[in-house]
Amino acid sequence: MKFQLFPERKSCFCAFCKVPRKVYRSKNLSFATILGLAGLSFVLTNTIWHNFDPRGLIILGFLLITGEIFAQIKWRQSMICQNCGFDAVLYVRDPEKAGLKIKEFLDYRATRPEYLLRPAVPMPKRKVHASRGENISLRG
Ligand SMILES: [Zn+2]
Repeated sequence: MKFQLFPERKSCFCAFCKVPRKVYRSKNLSFATILGLAGLSFVLTNTIWHNFDPRGLIILGFLLITGEIFAQIKWRQSMICQNCGFDAVLYVRDPEKAGLKIKEFLDYRATRPEYLLRPAVPMPKRKVHASRGENISLRG
């Protein structure tokens, strides 16, 4: 295992299929990435105008906005379980839609050979409380 001082991802378990997986800690750019983009915009500014130039700030802004968009897409994608298709963000917004997404993913998964060796998805059982073992028809 690789040691990281500030790990970008953390381990967790899928709320639906209970398979261990990793999600991104933050949905925004990390401080190290922002520093890297600032360095890149500095290099680009020096390459284009051979000196400090205020137009370099436009490059920095562009890089930060693009990086932020990609960081958010990456975070959103990591929220979806690769094993069962459970989407935690969608579940908070609309549980029914999240359930339909899982069903759709499981139908797709059943046709794909690459999922054959992956852990099975335990389906939640619906509990029936109506009769509780007694025969209702005998009640008067
Ligand atoms: Zn899952």
